[in-house]
Amino acid sequence: MTAPRLEISLDKIFHNASTLVRRLRRSGIAVTGVTKACMGNPSYAATLLAAGVRTIGDSRIENILEMRRAGITAPIALIRPPMLSQAGLVVANADISFNTELDVISALSDAARKTDRRHAVVLMVELGDLREGIMPDDIEETVGHTLSYPNIDLRGIGANLGCFNGVVPDAKNMGELSRLADDLDQHFGASSPSITRDVSGGNSSNLTWAFSGNRIGRINELRLGESILMGIDPLHRQPIEGLHLDAVTLFAEVIESKLKPAQTYGALAHPTFERNTTEHHHGTRNQAILAIGHQDTDPAGLTAPSDIDVLGASSDHLVVKISGRVTKVGNEIAFQPNYSAVLRAMTSPYVTKVFQQRQDANRLT
Ligand SMILES: *Cc1c(COP(=O)(O)O)cnc(C)c1O
Repeated sequence: MTAPRLEISLDKIFHNASTLVRRLRRSGIAVTGVTKACMGNPSYAATLLAAGVRTIGDSRIENILEMRRAGITAPIALIRPPMLSQAGLVVANADISFNTELDVISALSDAARKTDRRHAVVLMVELGDLREGIMPDDIEETVGHTLSYPNIDLRGIGANLGCFNGVVPDAKNMGELSRLADDLDQHFGASSPSITRDVSGGNSSNLTWAFSGNRIGRINELRLGESILMGIDPLHRQPIEGLHLDAVTLFAEVIESKLKPAQTYGALAHPTFERNTTEHHHGTRNQAILAIGHQDTDPAGLTAPSDIDVLGASSDHLVVKISGRVTKVGNEIAFQPNYSAVLRAMTSPYVTKVFQQRQDANRLT
């Protein structure tokens, strides 16, 4: 097999997704399974659907097109506010989009009317993390306008915390989202009973809040990407009980393995990628080079086997120190990538991606 290579165990993904779906169902929360870190891979999406997610969510229309081309017919939400220039593509391929700008909703409405479709809209509310979202004071007016656009169905409201500034989802901000849903129902409910059908509370950062006995209120959906893929809660970087942490593995091949001095020699200036070269070392060490670098992954996000230390990387070389059995040229070493390393590897054309089908994949349709 070729290297570098990302292997994704869909058995483990199925386990992680179905475990989270089951736990959240107890609180009346449905899951949107987020596929963006896997570039909308259709086998990945099908695995999430088999595990019980209600909707697929992706932030890029290209990924949604890929899933549609592969025959995924489940509801798909574009979870990043659409580009104005892509309104037509969005309406043609996504059932739902998350929005914050009336100009965009207006363009979605035009595109839907022209093609005789309907398009569902979730309005995102700002709750303090300062990424996308309508300020809470403006939500009522925005709802009023949204309801007036032809071929647009207002489906609900949502929020996103954690991703940008690390603001923690808690009883206070989730309570505010619930209250906004109640207020909107009170104000508009008579004319439009289902405008807050979906109250989408957030992403994997919301799991601690969801599992710690807080009042769930009106929140009835979470959008989960990283927790399913990595098995961790991204806010605290802690493993989630019962989930696989090793669904994704990154393999790289050894292209040099030698005994080398532990200390550089010659005058020093700036290396291409800054690293700590001022530390002094004595003697020699077993050093290997792997054919993987910044063009393939985020080297800082790799966890190596226990007898290997990553010393640093350049564009195409990862240099490691080996304290255990010396590795030979041609051997592969398996790394545990974090989310950042997975993202970079998944989008690098140099890295082969292997989605390992589920053992019981015949049950998957
Ligand atoms: C990426 C993203 C998600 C998923 O976040 P994870 O932390 O990977 O679960 C959810 N909602 C929005 C709007 C996103 O951009």
